[in-house]
Amino acid sequence: MRMFQLCVCGEPLRCNEQPTPEPKGTEVLLKVLAAGVCHSDLHLADGYFDLGSGKRLSLAERGMKLPLTLGHENVGEVVAFGVEAKGIRIGARTLADPWIGCGTCGPCRRGDENLCRAMKNLGVFSNGGYADYMMVPHPRYLFEIGDLSPERAAPLACSGVTTFGALKKVPTLATEPTVIVGAGGLGLMCLALHRKMSGHSAIVVEIDPAKREAAKQARAAHVVDARAADAAQQIIDLTQGGAWAVIDFVGSTQSTRIAYDSLSKGGKYIVVGLFGGDFTLSLPLIPMRALTIQGSYVGTVREMTELMGLVRRTGLPPVPVATRPLSEVNAVMEQLRAGRVTGRVVLTP
Ligand SMILES: [Zn+2]
Ligand SMILES: [Zn+2]
Repeated sequence: MRMFQLCVCGEPLRCNEQPTPEPKGTEVLLKVLAAGVCHSDLHLADGYFDLGSGKRLSLAERGMKLPLTLGHENVGEVVAFGVEAKGIRIGARTLADPWIGCGTCGPCRRGDENLCRAMKNLGVFSNGGYADYMMVPHPRYLFEIGDLSPERAAPLACSGVTTFGALKKVPTLATEPTVIVGAGGLGLMCLALHRKMSGHSAIVVEIDPAKREAAKQARAAHVVDARAADAAQQIIDLTQGGAWAVIDFVGSTQSTRIAYDSLSKGGKYIVVGLFGGDFTLSLPLIPMRALTIQGSYVGTVREMTELMGLVRRTGLPPVPVATRPLSEVNAVMEQLRAGRVTGRVVLTP
């Protein structure tokens, strides 16, 4: 089988070949049908996250071992499984939940496998779907997609559950406008799910005019140019006094400034994006304005189950998806790095 692997951080992925592995125990082998390319693949390929002020978070120190097959948004067909894998059948087309924990640490025991202290995430800490085949450790991470299109379903594994998990943290979803910062793959997915979850209305903040236009097409109530000097004031005006909830899919010093300055008293700032940087806060204003700052990292298996239920009832989120052959993965990653992707690019065999 072919696998596109990160062998040296900062270099393009290499196409390596190895015999297709055989599933043991509870393992399930999937023939990959679709693999979405996510912005965090770029951080993984770089090997670090920017912590601001010249500091870096090294992925090698967090347990990433090379060579590693990237790709964490995958749909595949079940082609084999181990003797202990139950409730699965050959030929089933399934979405693989990549956010896999150790199963024994505190967060895992509480059901928050995505917050595991020793993560095994597919395509991050173990081999993912930029390959002909991939192994999933247990059928509990597989969700049958029925007649849904594999390439349109694949982004649910990261982009879908990440935005769903963030939207679930908004107490005022149905009653007040929600501010969404960034209209890339995650922002547009969030906008689509916000509608499906009967959200009140959405205000989208974005620097790129083409992406603002895409957000308008996706029925954002308002769009704000993040480069405008009065961007935060525009949000305060549009929300009649400040935002109750801002979800930030960028996570840069600049986006945090806008989000933080536009909050209402009692408002909530939910950070999802991993662009990087740092930010200085005036501490007395946190209690005086009763603000909540909450990070949101992908989603739980429970949230993935809920999201798949929502999609079965209401259809796939209408997010722009383009497909490219798996062999073009490096070109697609460069395109994403240059900011030239609207929606999602999904690799197919
Ligand atoms: Zn991702
Ligand atoms: Zn764990």
